[in-house]
Amino acid sequence: MKEKDNLKIKEDYLKKIKLLKKYDKYYYSNNNPLVDDSTYDKIKNYVLSLEKKYSFLKSNDSPSLSIGFKPSKNFKKVDHKVPMLSLGNAFNKEDLINFEKKILNFLNLKKNQKLDYSTEPKIDGISASLFYKKGVFTQGLSRGDGIQGEDITENLKTIKDIPQTLKGRDFPDEIDIRGEVFINNIDFEKLKNKFANPRNAASGSLRQKDPKETKKIPLNFIAYTFGYSKKLNISTQSEFLKKLKYWGFKTNKLNKVISGVENLIDNHRIIEEQRKEIEFDVDGLVYKVNDFNLQKRLGFAASAPRWAIAHKFSANKSVSEILKIEIQVGRTGALTPVAKIKPVNIGGVLVSNATLHNEDEINRKDIREGDTVTVERAGDVIPHVVSVDKKKRTKEAKKFIFPKLCPSCGSETIKEFNKITKKFDAVRRCRNDNFDCERISIEKIKHFVSKDAFNIDGLGKKIVESFWNLKLIRNSSDIFKLDYEKISKLDGWGKLSAANLEYSINLKKKISLDKFIYSLGIRHIGQENARLISKNLKHPDNFFNLSDKNHFVDLLNIDGIGDTQINSLKNFFSNKNSIVVLKELRKILKIIPEKQKSSSGILKDFTFMFTGKLEGISRAEAKSLIEKNSGKIISNVSKKLNFLVVGEKPTNRKVNEAKNLNIKIINQKELIAMINSKDDS
Ligand code: NAD
Repeated sequence: MKEKDNLKIKEDYLKKIKLLKKYDKYYYSNNNPLVDDSTYDKIKNYVLSLEKKYSFLKSNDSPSLSIGFKPSKNFKKVDHKVPMLSLGNAFNKEDLINFEKKILNFLNLKKNQKLDYSTEPKIDGISASLFYKKGVFTQGLSRGDGIQGEDITENLKTIKDIPQTLKGRDFPDEIDIRGEVFINNIDFEKLKNKFANPRNAASGSLRQKDPKETKKIPLNFIAYTFGYSKKLNISTQSEFLKKLKYWGFKTNKLNKVISGVENLIDNHRIIEEQRKEIEFDVDGLVYKVNDFNLQKRLGFAASAPRWAIAHKFSANKSVSEILKIEIQVGRTGALTPVAKIKPVNIGGVLVSNATLHNEDEINRKDIREGDTVTVERAGDVIPHVVSVDKKKRTKEAKKFIFPKLCPSCGSETIKEFNKITKKFDAVRRCRNDNFDCERISIEKIKHFVSKDAFNIDGLGKKIVESFWNLKLIRNSSDIFKLDYEKISKLDGWGKLSAANLEYSINLKKKISLDKFIYSLGIRHIGQENARLISKNLKHPDNFFNLSDKNHFVDLLNIDGIGDTQINSLKNFFSNKNSIVVLKELRKILKIIPEKQKSSSGILKDFTFMFTGKLEGISRAEAKSLIEKNSGKIISNVSKKLNFLVVGEKPTNRKVNEAKNLNIKIINQKELIAMINSKDDS
């Protein structure tokens, strides 16, 4: 049994390592990460925790041993004279106390011995090693896998911060100077469609096959250490940093020497707050034991020096400044305020927009343009402003006045009254809920072609915007009437890409009824409701005729569809523009009716409704069980109902209504027995 367990653990361990290797390849070699850093770090930490727990786990590819990724075939491979390692990470005070403790133990020093650290911003770029012989730059390497780098000399020569010859005379005969190649945030803005973050952008631009391509991108270099050196007469890191400046390198203005964990933490907080003012991306601070003698004694562990650590900034929060508040209009007319902020790196992603949710949220937090704010980005959630630092507010900062008219079409906006909560909605909406409001129309088309709707390959949000601006489309049906001849002549297009687009659009002319209903972007009709309506109406004609025959009330029988959804559908069908588009779509598309189930299920032809809490099974699962057995769920007690399933604390009104109509009332056990009895037969 134990052996079997161990085998399973090993299998899981190797699988996760393989996954990390794949992520490494995309991140380091292709500069196109498949996942964000926090996802990557979670898997890495899991692998490391397995290694700690089970001593039988070993792999040469373990993240505890490997650095970066093997050099690309595009470049000549060259061995580093001294390996180029990574850095250990610290996230909090406890990690720093442990780091110092280990150093003091290793050096056999007293517990209260003060150590000086060279404290340097950790620039999020890629490191490079520059070899100088008699003061002349002769060869430049990337880190590669730490042992072997890529020869990128010609590419490095295009960076103006890298001196071709060193200044002064007191440099060693041979030295390799190491530092970070990076891109300023402002320059990254222009590349952000191509790269996830400035680090990938710097790496991608630097490691171009053709140095002429590298030259086009304004890359920078800041020096911070050395690898190999012949006779270097310097005894501390801070002294070495000064020397680097003297020899002609740029060094970081924020470098300083600090001792004591408390002071390191204070400085970390200050720099984290100043981060938005720095022109480039900094993802933490690096602390290095300042004394070179001590560094030498401490030496290196498998993948990082024992004398240095990276104290990372928070991976899901950062401080920034609101440059402007913009109001975006969504598909359903909702006015969403968005803060344009000074770009900051949060967990490996450069964030320059953060949602402010709605008008109420702005008023409640009194958020203003120019404010210093904390922005959070966690998982796939859209970055949002969590708090304002009012102490940092200037006198000039004016209260933000939320527009009362739609910024897109100038129509009146309203806050709807919610009859259930008896409150006004927090969201303000454009009342022009049809094809007159430009933003609503564009957003509706984006929704129409999106993944869960028509899912048209090659027709993303940006192309929709551009086709709109070129007046090629004005509503969803125009997608199927595009002028491909014209498109093929547009900038960035050609005959082949226009033909590809035509092919993928034509492929989607056949669509299921539920997807079609969802794609119309009717408010309150999301995927689930579209499915329910489709299941109920079965044939597309029934959907198109909803309005003519005023069949809306029939939909009320569907469990999950209520007044809100019905009113929204009525609203949609009462709009002249919607009807024109619907008619067009009906002509162009082949909408597949809901599949008639070969319903031989045991509950065929029976209808059910629930009231009260069920035991050990959720309402959703119970419903799905009934549907699997060809039964139907309805949401009103009427003559159409066959069984009312009663759980704990049912609604008495429903039970009484059912009794009056002679509807069979059963409990959960009886329902299950019904399903099981038929199963046996
Ligand atoms: P690292 O980037 O966290 O730290 C080491 C690097 O810091 C050095 O190589 C150097 O380039 C840099 N640095 C900047 N300033 C410095 C200074 N003053 N002194 C010394 N070094 C300085 O380590 P790493 O091993 O290169 O990368 C690990 C990071 O990459 C993690 O954050 C991880 O999440 C991320 N990653 C992400 C993915 C993904 O798929 N998203 C894949 C692999 C790695």
